[in-house]
Amino acid sequence: MSADLKHLNSKNSQQYLGVKFNSRISQTITRLYIFTVLAVLIGSSIALLQNWELRVKDTQSKLVRSANLVNFLIETNLAIAEKSLKTTQAAFTQALASGPVDAQLATQLLDKNYQRFKTYNNVDLFGLEFFVNAQGQLVARSGIPSNEKIDFSDRFYFYQLRDHPELTRAIGPLVFARTTKTWLFHISVPLHDKAGKFAGVLVQQLSETDIANSLTQYSDVDNFEQLMTHVTNADASFVFPPPGTPESPSQEIQQALKHRPAQEALTNGGAFQWNAPAQKNTKHVLMQVVKSSVYDLETYASFPETRIQHEFWYGNRPFFLFVLVGMSISTAIFFYLLQLSKKLTQAQTASLYDALTKVHNRRALDEILPVLLSDAMRSQEPISVLFIDIDHFRFFNKKYGHESGDTALVAVAQTLADCASRPLDFVCRWGGEEFVIVLPKTNSHAAQKIAHEILNAVRAVQLESRNGEHPSITVSVGYVTDTVTSIQTQDDLIDQADQAMRQAKSQGRDQCVAYEPIDR
Ligand code: GH3
Ligand code: MG
Ligand code: MG
Repeated sequence: MSADLKHLNSKNSQQYLGVKFNSRISQTITRLYIFTVLAVLIGSSIALLQNWELRVKDTQSKLVRSANLVNFLIETNLAIAEKSLKTTQAAFTQALASGPVDAQLATQLLDKNYQRFKTYNNVDLFGLEFFVNAQGQLVARSGIPSNEKIDFSDRFYFYQLRDHPELTRAIGPLVFARTTKTWLFHISVPLHDKAGKFAGVLVQQLSETDIANSLTQYSDVDNFEQLMTHVTNADASFVFPPPGTPESPSQEIQQALKHRPAQEALTNGGAFQWNAPAQKNTKHVLMQVVKSSVYDLETYASFPETRIQHEFWYGNRPFFLFVLVGMSISTAIFFYLLQLSKKLTQAQTASLYDALTKVHNRRALDEILPVLLSDAMRSQEPISVLFIDIDHFRFFNKKYGHESGDTALVAVAQTLADCASRPLDFVCRWGGEEFVIVLPKTNSHAAQKIAHEILNAVRAVQLESRNGEHPSITVSVGYVTDTVTSIQTQDDLIDQADQAMRQAKSQGRDQCVAYEPIDR
């Protein structure tokens, strides 16, 4: 009958926590994790930014190299052609000094100079050489003698040199020769007679393919895919390579060349970014421009920015993977540590509670009492300690059995916790069937009131044994109130409350007694 004593008026054990023993471990771990994540994010962002800038810089310097090389090749090609023309020009000037030059003489002069130049300079010239008279008629050309009197007066080089006597040469524009189906341009020099009158022009035909071949052979110094080089003149009438070839400028670049943002770039170290206003997505093109110091030509080297982006993402894959793996590992470690700290907190909490009665144990009292006492000392407010012992509990155990004794013990503990339930009140099982209650900011009057409440509440505890018996329990309470002046009082206060409790026992139990120092 004794084994299943019931506590009838038990409230659902109120979770009484005198003071929270908070673990700071999880907080520290979380902070450490956030710091690690932030450090990794900031660090990798800086590294990536630097990597991006390096790639852009590298591209720019490759563009500068390519633009310079192409400019050099174009200048060299034109210089060779011009040198040949100058030699022929000298021969013609000499011939013109003794009168007009006819077709036969002109053909002779052209061929002779062409051959001589070719031999002396060890170069193969690019195309035909023409002599056009002052009226703009083709008089002679190298190689084949010409009988046709083709009118060249509408040709760019002809009217340029005729109408601008100050010019010593004319270049371009790029034209499509229908007969040979090739792109050509011309460099030409003026001729003057003895009197200094305009006597026609000498023209060197330059084939686009020949120059383009030498350009593709040399310009791709860095084996840099998608790098493009283009040569143009001031009004963009000369754009080289011409349309229809694989190397011809894309629409975006052609637009860039026409809009000439390069004018700013030329004063700005030669670099600019051309945002082509494409229909949907704006295309960014990195460009470098080099202005020829000899001819009225500019060489542009361009590279699409999307390509750099692609290489950036592709090239940094190991880095991204490294960051991802690192972050995953630290996140896993973080959660593991968090769980560990939770378990630790649980263990720490459990170690401060009494397993049977669920109120704090004596260890908790040892930890919290100095804190409560120093608080009381600082605030100079009274603090009360109650010592409670169950009456004739040995007898209770004997009569109802030890397990029923345990049930009664739990009932009393819960009753005490309910009576001392203000936030700072602290209830603990001192040992056996003895309890200690610490009541901060409580004077002796209030302590007495609570002691009486405890006596009444314990008397009212309703227990029921299996055979319908209703065993009653009572307690004896001793209490003491003090305004703390020294931290040494810790043991004294409990001792004094214990003494008062023993006096309550000797006075007949089921009562409370205040500690009286005068009587001791
Ligand atoms: P008094 O009125 O003078 O206090 O008489 P008492 O019989 O209660 O004497 P004492 O305070 O010395 O009682 C101690 C007894 O309390 C001994 C033991 O039987 C009982 N007791 C101590 N701890 C436990 C416990 O955990 N469970 C149970 N069931 N009984 C306990
Ligand atoms: Mg006892
Ligand atoms: Mg007792």
